[in-house]
Amino acid sequence: MTSTTRIDRRAFMVRAGALGGVAVAAGGCASVSTSAGAPAKPTGTPRRGRQARNVIFMVSDGMSTGTLTLADMASRERTGRASAWSRLWGIEGARRAVCRTHAADSLVTDSSAAGSAWGIGEHINNGAVNFTPDGRTPTPILVQARENGFSTGLVTTTRVTHATPASFVANVPSRAQEGAIARQIMDRRLDVVLGGGAKHFPGSLLEAHADATVVRTAAELAGATDDGGRLLGVFNREHMSYELDRPEDEPHIRDMTRAALSRLSSRADGFVLQVEGGRVDHAAHANDACSLLGEQAAFDEALDEAVRFTMGRDDTLLIATTDHANANPGLTLYEEPGNTGFERLMRGRRSFDWIGDQLSAAGSPDEVMGVLPMLVYQATGVELRDADRAWLHRHFVDHERADGFTAVSGFGPVLGAVLANSLGVAFVSPNHTADMVEVTALGPGSERLAPTIDNIDLHALMVGALDLRAAGA
Ligand SMILES: [Zn+2]
Repeated sequence: MTSTTRIDRRAFMVRAGALGGVAVAAGGCASVSTSAGAPAKPTGTPRRGRQARNVIFMVSDGMSTGTLTLADMASRERTGRASAWSRLWGIEGARRAVCRTHAADSLVTDSSAAGSAWGIGEHINNGAVNFTPDGRTPTPILVQARENGFSTGLVTTTRVTHATPASFVANVPSRAQEGAIARQIMDRRLDVVLGGGAKHFPGSLLEAHADATVVRTAAELAGATDDGGRLLGVFNREHMSYELDRPEDEPHIRDMTRAALSRLSSRADGFVLQVEGGRVDHAAHANDACSLLGEQAAFDEALDEAVRFTMGRDDTLLIATTDHANANPGLTLYEEPGNTGFERLMRGRRSFDWIGDQLSAAGSPDEVMGVLPMLVYQATGVELRDADRAWLHRHFVDHERADGFTAVSGFGPVLGAVLANSLGVAFVSPNHTADMVEVTALGPGSERLAPTIDNIDLHALMVGALDLRAAGA
């Protein structure tokens, strides 16, 4: 391992040349045991034909191109530097693709079908996790990687049992089966798992896996010594807090990423790690522009951490992407209103979740309207105008439809639309969209990234770079 800050291009070229004729291995299709019995030991030794020793798979969940753009603009404004993602494009050897996203049964994908496209290399129906329409349960990529001798990890800001982390490790017919996903996470013996979702790891489950170290606060994570064993960090019963609301005892996604990379890179035989900025998606669903920027900016810091790791060596394939676009936000007011709006956006202090929590104390719709303007001001710095208040009144008190498009009728979209007058950022809906999405890759194996791909192609890219074989092959 070198400590240079520049990728060794020569080593890249040698590897790429030597491996030019190697076919991409087919994804394994063996079903995996989910019993809590004796854990399977890794059966393989690392393949000599592999191009990459490690894969870091970075997911900003539900990231429309507009979200990436807003975070880049904010980074330039705040620090004078482009976002880590934007800087990644300028690194010699980095490759980019636009990626189509869809599920087997839907042109607009959800996270579990999109994640499963990476996890098993197949299109499945929305709502399922690595469970095909004809009932098969192909081996997810982290399980296959472990069978091939690699260490494995998941980092997320959602519950660790949520769709995107689950899509790398679990097989369940419904993403809602988070208890079963938690059991599979433990049974399948990942080395590092960090995020929210403590409620799905009851004492009985942890007692059955007493060898795993469990940490529950940022301080415990920072203080945990690496004994070579498994680490489970669950820092919230539910999803972790939005970055704007994050209490000190919940670690930043950058710190979770750093901890995971430190542990996994100390293991003997390479690793596969997924890092998910999972609440980018939630803020987009909520049409909460301030939180959306907060989440994407936090994810960008984690990506910066991953890029630094990758640049310091020549054996790691880094992939940065999203599973689907969501709500397609954009700064859309000209001149002074747009410029001032963006300044306000960068000063956002609290999420819509926080506003909702405060509102839960209010009783009648009129009481809600009595406190809402003050809460909006505290959260966003926006003083609602009379016309804005009238619009909110129409929604909360009169229960009138807010828009011709019926999807745009909930609390988030109505408040988000009103705030667009002051923040300049508008949303197309509170749903995922079918837009093509960004993929950026760096490191050995990235040369196989074609300019336009389908989301299932990223599974083959990882399998090929690591030369993963089906168990027993
Ligand atoms: Zn998603």
